[in-house]
Amino acid sequence: MAAAVRPVINSQAGWNWLVFLLFPARVIMNDERRYPLQKLSRNDLCWCGSGKKYKHCHLRLDQEQERAKRRGETVPERRVILKTPEQIAGIRESCRLTKAILDMLETRVEPDITTEQIDRWVHEMTVENGAIPAPLNYRGYPKSVCTSLNEVVCHGIPGPRVLKEGDILNIDVTSILNGYYGDSSRMFLVGEVSEAARKLVDVTYECMMLGIEQVKPGNRLGDIGHAIQRHAESRGYSVVRAFVGHGTGIHFHEPPDVHHYGQPGTGMPLAPNMVFTIEPMINAGGYAVRVLPDGWTAVTADGSLSAQWEHTILVTEEGVEILTA
Ligand SMILES: [Zn+2]
Repeated sequence: MAAAVRPVINSQAGWNWLVFLLFPARVIMNDERRYPLQKLSRNDLCWCGSGKKYKHCHLRLDQEQERAKRRGETVPERRVILKTPEQIAGIRESCRLTKAILDMLETRVEPDITTEQIDRWVHEMTVENGAIPAPLNYRGYPKSVCTSLNEVVCHGIPGPRVLKEGDILNIDVTSILNGYYGDSSRMFLVGEVSEAARKLVDVTYECMMLGIEQVKPGNRLGDIGHAIQRHAESRGYSVVRAFVGHGTGIHFHEPPDVHHYGQPGTGMPLAPNMVFTIEPMINAGGYAVRVLPDGWTAVTADGSLSAQWEHTILVTEEGVEILTA
């Protein structure tokens, strides 16, 4: 499930200088909040929200990060939760279930079923496997899955709409298994679809995979966005700006925001044990979107078709592992 873009406060650094001149102590306090290492003792609850003691969770990874920083290496911002081996194992299981739920749908999505039926299938299989559908009641979202049809960019709400020949449908599944999140979405072609629709779906898949190919330690978020944007725009499509990929695993939406456009060599550096989604939304027309009065359903402003694919990925020492593949 895509995250809405958070406002970027670029002026923060500038303000810090001014505040430093006036109140030096204030800056130190800010820094402590960003780097809680100095404040947490071994038996405190970990800052990541896992509910575990710090010494059993992020203490070791944090110490490694501190050492890397002292060596002058570029490390991700501290608010990014680098996952512990235990967390990665849990997220891997959750992602496996999410993939299995999408696999289950592959043979069932066809003309004449409703999107509400898809919601029931997803809900049942999630619960049967001891998991919770993450979208249900998330900030008031009323269903267990997102179903985004044709001009719907993302966050379409399942309902009585009957699928018909020629529709293209994104189904976005997020499971919470043993507290860990796995997030993935795919496009489904309903019966025979137009050549234009098929091409948009195919190019969007290629965009996602080209973005994933950029994932390795040392590359930056901007490298991912650039690869996606270049491919989409070379085919005459546009990249949605209003929604982004996101860190995930311990919480539904964690930092960082993963933009699907950008400049190479810019943005946060990637480091092993980061887990985030790559989920480009590509429009046949312009990239502007508007949200319907239900507060969720985002559609293309010009009514053009939109497609989206999504994987949750893990940054490894060597490169990338697609957890929902
Ligand atoms: Zn932790």
